[in-house]
Amino acid sequence: MKVLVINAGSSSVKYQLIQTDDESVVAKGGIERIGIPGSNLSQTVGGKKYEIAKYLPDHNAAFELMLDCLTSPDFGGAVKDISEIEAIGHRVLHTGTDFHGSVEVDAEVERLLRENIHLGPLHMPANIAGIDACIKALPGVPNVAVFDTAFHTTMPDKASMYAIPYEDYEKFKIKKYGFHGTSHKYVSGCAIDYLSSKGLPWGKIVTCHLGNGSSITAVKDGKSVDTSMGMTPLEGVPMGTRSGDIDASVVEMLCSWKDMTPSEVVTYLNKQCGFLGVSGVSSDSRNVLEEAEKGNYRARLAMDMFTYRVKKYIGSYAAAMGGLDCIVMTGGIGENSGPLRKGILDGLEFLGVKLDEKVNAEVRQPKGIFEIQTSDSRVRILVIPTNEELVIARETRDVVNAMKR
Ligand code: AMP
Repeated sequence: MKVLVINAGSSSVKYQLIQTDDESVVAKGGIERIGIPGSNLSQTVGGKKYEIAKYLPDHNAAFELMLDCLTSPDFGGAVKDISEIEAIGHRVLHTGTDFHGSVEVDAEVERLLRENIHLGPLHMPANIAGIDACIKALPGVPNVAVFDTAFHTTMPDKASMYAIPYEDYEKFKIKKYGFHGTSHKYVSGCAIDYLSSKGLPWGKIVTCHLGNGSSITAVKDGKSVDTSMGMTPLEGVPMGTRSGDIDASVVEMLCSWKDMTPSEVVTYLNKQCGFLGVSGVSSDSRNVLEEAEKGNYRARLAMDMFTYRVKKYIGSYAAAMGGLDCIVMTGGIGENSGPLRKGILDGLEFLGVKLDEKVNAEVRQPKGIFEIQTSDSRVRILVIPTNEELVIARETRDVVNAMKR
């Protein structure tokens, strides 16, 4: 089945056409600056890159151009006819409390998605615009919503609830939802297959998705039982520009001392903090690490705060699960940064974690699963490249096949 995977943002769309039979990527592309002068599309088919600049006033225009480019021989001719696309899988941010897994979008599902816009005001409108544009451009082709929070709906209440009055949880659904669910699901699934094929224990895994946004998840017996991001992606470890965990009283203090509104403080905590705010150098860990290595104190502090807090999450999740069989590293930092992986894993020997420093330093841009622990480490440490688009394609295929039955 050829599945078109869509990740729609407010002014950009990323897409992949995946053949689920052999899980190959037929075409892959991105559209940028929708509704902004300078809109453009780039697409790769068979290793060749094609580009076009054309003003795209809205998502409908963007999807029309994308479909033209997928069929055009001048753009690699990914499909001969648009009817070859059998289903569309959409990355949707938030399940709210209405969904627990992927669903085909019908009028009722779309109504519930709209009801949940307040839970992700930056992403949900764009996700819905992407679905609407596909319904228009490809009538009759099923659209499936694959949620970024769905993997975490298995968290027990004791992990997902905030200690606020219960009535407010019931009324406003204020709780930890967690994010990067498709990534945590994908890499934990790969780790479980890998470990079980070797006869190794796999029931207690901590997955670390570390990139510009970062989250850590405790995966017990294949299910998410706790995760570091919260009601929004702001909670957890420090990230490129997000503060991560912070005393909520600071919000009121910042409002008063910097004469900010609460919403300005939330933007500040999301966009001006983390690696960028602490180091004053960059939100990109590579730049910050480079400065830290030259002796820049604030850059070193930003990196130390990150590795220290990721380490603490790993320790607390080992406690939550009553042990640890495996740590998985993924995302731009997890897959590529030997020094940051080392900073996180050093000092966890008491849990049976022993890093092979030489192997760790060498693993970058892995094409498959890499083990980076020493031969006497009780805990396996795996570097696994994430593949959220593949999870979306697989889930879309499964939902569509289930509907046919
Ligand atoms: P992501 O959001 O998953 O794309 O990850 C972005 C983060 O990964 C940035 O902080 C980058 O510095 C980091 N990163 C990406 N590629 C590399 C690399 N080759 N070496 C070290 N860090 C990298």
